[in-house]
Amino acid sequence: MTIQLAERTKDIQASQIRAMFAHTIGVENLISLGIGEPDYDTPSHIIEAACDALHHGMTHYSPSVGEVFLLRALAEKLQKRNKIDATPQEIIVTIGGQEALTLSMLVAINPGDEVLIPDPCFFPYAQCIRFADGIPVTVPSYEKNAFRLLPEDIEKKITSKTKAILINSPGNPTGAVMTRADLEGLAELAKKHDLIVMSDEVYEEFIYEGEHISIASLPGMKERTFTLNSFSKTYAMTGWRIGYICAPQAAVEAMTRVHGTYLTNVAAFIQKGAEAALTGPDEPVKEMIESYSRRRRLIVDGLNSIPGIVCAEPQGAFYAFPNIKGLGKSSYDLAVDLIKKAGVLSIPGSVFGEQGEGYLRMSYATAEDQIKEAIERIRDYVEKL
Ligand code: PLP
Repeated sequence: MTIQLAERTKDIQASQIRAMFAHTIGVENLISLGIGEPDYDTPSHIIEAACDALHHGMTHYSPSVGEVFLLRALAEKLQKRNKIDATPQEIIVTIGGQEALTLSMLVAINPGDEVLIPDPCFFPYAQCIRFADGIPVTVPSYEKNAFRLLPEDIEKKITSKTKAILINSPGNPTGAVMTRADLEGLAELAKKHDLIVMSDEVYEEFIYEGEHISIASLPGMKERTFTLNSFSKTYAMTGWRIGYICAPQAAVEAMTRVHGTYLTNVAAFIQKGAEAALTGPDEPVKEMIESYSRRRRLIVDGLNSIPGIVCAEPQGAFYAFPNIKGLGKSSYDLAVDLIKKAGVLSIPGSVFGEQGEGYLRMSYATAEDQIKEAIERIRDYVEKL
C-alpha cells in the first residue's frame, strides 16, 4: 500500500540550503560559510536566567500568546528601539522567526491571494505562503541598486489579488538595507492598494552602513504591518527557538488561536531567557556586532582580491553575496566544486531565487582565521581554473 498524503505536502520543499550539506559528506577539513548562524554561544546571563526559571518551577504550561513579563519587555523594546508605539496586547511570542513567518501567512492569506516577496530572498518565504494556500510572487532586486527592493519594481507586480508584501531589511542573502525613501515609497503603495506589510527584521542589529527603520514606525503603517523578529541572530539564540510578532490586536488574537491550537505555547523558561536578553547587559551583543563588522571587511576585501569575483559591500546582516559571473560557471556548479575541490561550503545564489543566479552566499558569522583560510582556498581553486 502507498500511503496517500495531503496535496499540501507536495508544495512544501525541503530546505535547499540544508541540501548543500549532502555534498560535504566525506570532505575533510571543510570550512563552512554555509549556514546563517552566529558562531557565538548564547551570552551567559541569558542562560542563567533560563536555568534559574527551571529551578524555580517554570516547568508548566503557560499562556499561548506569551508570558506577560516578556510581552511587556517586548513592548518597551519596540517603542524604544523600533519607534513603534506598541502595547503588550499587540504582540505574540512565537517559536522563532520561522513560526512568525508561517503564522503571519496563516492569519492573513486566503487561498489564491498573492504575496510579494523579494528575489532573491530567504528560501522558506515561498514555502510559508504556499502553506497558507497563497501564491508567492517575486519582485526582482538588482545588484546595481545594492539589491534594495525599490517601490517602482514592487508596483509593477501589484495586481487585484495582491494581499501582502513581505520585506526583509537587512536582508538575507544579500545584506541589502532599505532606505527611509524606499520604505516611504512602499508605505504609500501599501496604503494605495490596501496591502498588509510583513516586515522580517531578524537582522535589525546587524547594520554596518545606514540605519534600521521599522516600516511600522512610519505614519499610518502600524495598523497594516506585522513586524516579525527573533532572538536567534541578535543574541546567538538559534537553538532556543523564540521570536515574536507585533501586529494589530485583532491579528494577534487570531494568531493566538492558531498558534495555541498547534503549538500551545513557547516554553516559559525560554521566555525568561528572552526577557534577560532584552533587559540585561548589551555588551555581549555589541562585541559580536563589532566582530561581524571586522569579518565583513575581511571577506569583502579577500573576495575582491580574487580575479573573476566582484563583491559589493553588504550593508547589513552577516552574508557576503559575491558576483561570480566572471568565473563562467553556474552558481550551483561553482558551489559544489568549491566544496569538493577547495573544501569551502557556500550556498548557490540560485537557491534564493532567479536573481540569485551568478552569485554565492557566504556567511561571515565564522571565525576570522577560517574566513582567511577560505579566501586562500578559493584563490587557489580559481587560479587553477
Ligand atoms: N528570517 C530570515 C531572513 C532568516 O534568515 C532566518 C533564519 O535564517 C529566519 C527568519 C528564521 O530565524 P529563526 O527561526 O531562527 O528565528
